[in-house]
Amino acid sequence: MVERRSVSILGSTGSIGCSTLSVIESHGGANAYDVRALCGGSNAALLAEQARAVQADIAVIQDETAYPDLVEALAGSGIEVATGQQALLDAAGMGADICVSAIAGAAGLYPTLEAIRAGSTIALANKESMVCAGPLVRREAERMGVRILPVDSEHNAIFQVLEAHHHKAIERIILTASGGPFRDFTYEQMRRVTPEQAIAHPNWSMGVAISIDSASMFNKGLELIEAEQLFPVKSRQIEILVHPQSVIHSMVGYSDGSILAQLGAPDMRTPIAYALGWPDRVSAPVQRLDFPDVARLDFEAPDEVRFPALRIAREALDSGGLAPCAMNAAKEVAVEAFIARDISFLEVATVVEDVLAQFENGVAADSIEQVIAADGSARRLARETIRRRSNRSASA
Ligand code: NAD
Ligand code: MG
Repeated sequence: MVERRSVSILGSTGSIGCSTLSVIESHGGANAYDVRALCGGSNAALLAEQARAVQADIAVIQDETAYPDLVEALAGSGIEVATGQQALLDAAGMGADICVSAIAGAAGLYPTLEAIRAGSTIALANKESMVCAGPLVRREAERMGVRILPVDSEHNAIFQVLEAHHHKAIERIILTASGGPFRDFTYEQMRRVTPEQAIAHPNWSMGVAISIDSASMFNKGLELIEAEQLFPVKSRQIEILVHPQSVIHSMVGYSDGSILAQLGAPDMRTPIAYALGWPDRVSAPVQRLDFPDVARLDFEAPDEVRFPALRIAREALDSGGLAPCAMNAAKEVAVEAFIARDISFLEVATVVEDVLAQFENGVAADSIEQVIAADGSARRLARETIRRRSNRSASA
């Protein structure tokens, strides 16, 4: 067992947050970790239950309307309670040894930066931080001497097989993708899919937004950008490979032709345990791979006609500057509109592409003001585009 580390979890009530607490509890909970802050969005009952179970110092709920419920649920526990954006930033900045960054979407950027500035090692699930503001996040981490340990399963896999090797010998990174629930759907079938179908991922159990992004492959597009920010490779060295069993989590190819891969059951508790224990390895309560049971591993090239998100993300990455931030913001707005049934599944990519065509890029994503401005303007453009499209379909 490693020494008793202090840990804060941003987004503890979400999918990654709950998996993190499952790992912590499997190690002995409060006996093994000093849990500082748990931060959730709006589920006061779950947040209170989590905070009591691991004897957290403070529980922060983002949604102010849920605050009275949190206060009541934690009355007499001795656990401090707080609400609102500033409380979230203060909790992120408490300086725990490890901060698990697991808020969904661009909303995770600010608290991640606060945690970096407080010197915490970052267990990074929130890929949007790297997509929207990779250069800024990296610069702050370097300035503070902070390590960013990727939790996203692909990036965690790459991190694991890259560590001991010379970066100069890396030829390529192969990012694997499950292909999502619509891998075998025709374009015609994809026109009519519902949010419920898009959320039902075949291999991984995840939050709503990332599940829909997996179905459109925007998730892989975000991961392409995340990989370029995290690892010493150029965009053209990153390949995407559809691998429906999700057993190989990603691979690195070296100049001698060797390819190193990390394998495991599709369970986020493995990369989470890796990040919590690093540089040691600690146990994770996951199923062990049974190869005869897996039986075979399949691979196919991605189809950029049915999944234009891959092309859009690569173009945004190659344009550089604030284009990835704008892409993510437009995508978040379009996914909300798809969930609200204002646009169809295929229109998510169309809206993002429309926004990027109108977006005025130009500067590097290295100041928070620029990132906020780009995010805001892409969201406005996306809302206008969606409004135009629904007016058109209403009058058609
Ligand atoms: P989720 O929707 O299940 O959970 C998100 C968490 O963030 C919840 O606790 C929610 O209450 C909180 N939250 C949402 N908006 C907030 C806001 N504005 N302020 C404060 N808190 C807020 O999402 P998830 O699936 O756990 O994903 C979290 C992050 O991890 C995402 O960036 C996702 O891309 C990444 N990720 C997730 C998985 C996975 O398996 N779930 C895998 C790889 C990466
Ligand atoms: Mg992933």
